[in-house]
Amino acid sequence: MKIGVGCKQILSLCLVSMFFCVGCAKDPIKVLLVTGQNNHNWQVSHEVLRSVIEQSELFTVDYAITPPKGGDMSVFKPDFSAYDVVLLDYNGDRWSEETDRNFLNFVDNGGGVVIYHAADNAFAGWDAFNRIIALGGWEGRNEQSGPYVYWKGDRLVRDSSAGPGGSHGAQREYQVNCRNTKHPITQGLPEVWMHAQDELYDRMRGPGNIDELLYTGYADSTRGGSGREEPLVFTVDYGKARILHLMLGHIGGENTPEFCPAVSCVGFQTLLLRGLEWAATGKVKQKVPTDFPSADKSVMRPIP
Ligand code: ZN
Repeated sequence: MKIGVGCKQILSLCLVSMFFCVGCAKDPIKVLLVTGQNNHNWQVSHEVLRSVIEQSELFTVDYAITPPKGGDMSVFKPDFSAYDVVLLDYNGDRWSEETDRNFLNFVDNGGGVVIYHAADNAFAGWDAFNRIIALGGWEGRNEQSGPYVYWKGDRLVRDSSAGPGGSHGAQREYQVNCRNTKHPITQGLPEVWMHAQDELYDRMRGPGNIDELLYTGYADSTRGGSGREEPLVFTVDYGKARILHLMLGHIGGENTPEFCPAVSCVGFQTLLLRGLEWAATGKVKQKVPTDFPSADKSVMRPIP
């Protein structure tokens, strides 16, 4: 039977509806936020991060909270495999062997991981973890942990000379500079934008298996920094896994949900949300927010 124009229009409408319904029915991305010990204010950060992530309506967030420092780690057994992406906000006691193994299995099977701020201080003596973060700081890290990796000219420099791993100057606003505008996380964002008040990690060391360097920032020596352009946001080359290392986002004892500029920054929130989506799916469908910061003006949103 020949299909008339009317029928064709109805058919088109059905196809359009099906297309949108498929979009509507898509499950949110499942995020597991690991926390419970940190030299930072994890009691504030985990709730603030969840608020920011869930307000996007793209994700659901479950917590995996460890026992306090010195507690019985054998009871901490999150099911990493039930999630699309693991967000690490943890810097504390070593997990049990079983949990270490389950985490490595998740990563080896192509899991998504986002390393947030001081999570890169954790587990200095765990080789596999150091390859998952590529660069880390503090907790006894030094030249034995790997070279100090920084940006100079148009490339990364690996400096194997002796020295501590991990330091930072005074908190301040600073510009972040994009080093790869083609990556799904950075596509469409300004090449330079002003980050709200935060720490700027410098002299970080490790195996240095950076895959795609996304942003650097200048650690101003007049404010206690290294005087070098430091890698701050990058993906990690680790088998099939999709790993984003996001060094921004300090929340310390001085911060509250009402005052946490580093995480209230629209630039930080955009990188967190785009990074989670990319780590979970390999793609980024989110649009650039209209209130994204410019090169000379940071922009903050109240935590929802
Ligand atoms: Zn910090």
